Amino acid sequence: MKKMRIVLTGGAGFIGSHLTSFLLNEGHSVIVLDNFITGKRENIEPFFDKEEFDFIEQDVTKYIDIEGDVDYILHFASPASPIDYLKYPIQTMKVGALGTLNTLGLAKMKKAKFLLASTSEVYGDPKVHPQNEDYWGHVNPIGPRGVYDESKRYAEALTMAYHKFHLIDTRIIRIFNTFGPKMRPDDGRVIPTFVMQCLKGKSLTIFGSGKQTRSFCYISDLIDGIYRLMMKDYHFPVNLGNPKEISIENLAKSIANITGREVSIVYKGLPEDDPQCRKPDISKAKELLSWEPHVDLMKGLIETVEWFQSLHKEV
Ligand code: UDP
Repeated sequence: MKKMRIVLTGGAGFIGSHLTSFLLNEGHSVIVLDNFITGKRENIEPFFDKEEFDFIEQDVTKYIDIEGDVDYILHFASPASPIDYLKYPIQTMKVGALGTLNTLGLAKMKKAKFLLASTSEVYGDPKVHPQNEDYWGHVNPIGPRGVYDESKRYAEALTMAYHKFHLIDTRIIRIFNTFGPKMRPDDGRVIPTFVMQCLKGKSLTIFGSGKQTRSFCYISDLIDGIYRLMMKDYHFPVNLGNPKEISIENLAKSIANITGREVSIVYKGLPEDDPQCRKPDISKAKELLSWEPHVDLMKGLIETVEWFQSLHKEV
């Protein structure tokens, strides 16, 4: 297989750093662009001494200048957890709009392929269950999640426009809830939050009734799906996620069991526009990429808890 020179925005984030590691192992050369707004230097430090790795500290909403040939651009930069995009609403919109424009412009100039990391949030609080790629979604543009949902919807529209008008060789993935080592303990997402609460002996905070559902995909499965789509000639959005659905209440119980701690639960208000359910229809990925997740939720949670435990000891 041809060795590629790949530009990855958001490479210091949770998904970006796993993707960097995978691509380097596949023998590619990776240039990470990140401004550490939500990413972490520690996530990419292990790659600094690798010859095939380069890092540019940069906000991708500003003009991007890369020397030499580029084969592929992967646009993963964005605050992506609800508390992150509530904290950085304008930056979230700028990276979805200007960041996507700049990275697509770079793809055009370099005649490179392009992949956009989009999200299941484009479906909003869905009225179709499970969500397939033909569903247009149910998004409140002016609600708290609108900054993320609408910037990703805009980014998808822009990517398709560059594909159709400039004939750029693009891909779009819609990533559903993903988890694993290297998530930030304070990113506010439900799995790191529950794990850290258990490890610190605090009460688990369930928002709303806990009957709302999500479907959690382990990081290695997601990375496998991303790489398969990178290698495929397909330009419409593809859902990547684990279709096994669980309520937040049952997730809390499972995490408490794994950590072996006696923990109490406190119920808090449901955040505005919090989706009631989410589960990907992955028929397209199965057919197109021969892909489906293999890591069972419990196995993935055990790995994740172990990782947070090692982190917690250092704190
Ligand atoms: N959630 C919760 N307690 C927490 C954090 C999150 O009950 O401490 C709920 C949240 O309201 C949502 C689900 O867990 O229904 C998943 O939240 P997360 O922030 O992980 O991601 P989302 O899928 O909402 O983007």
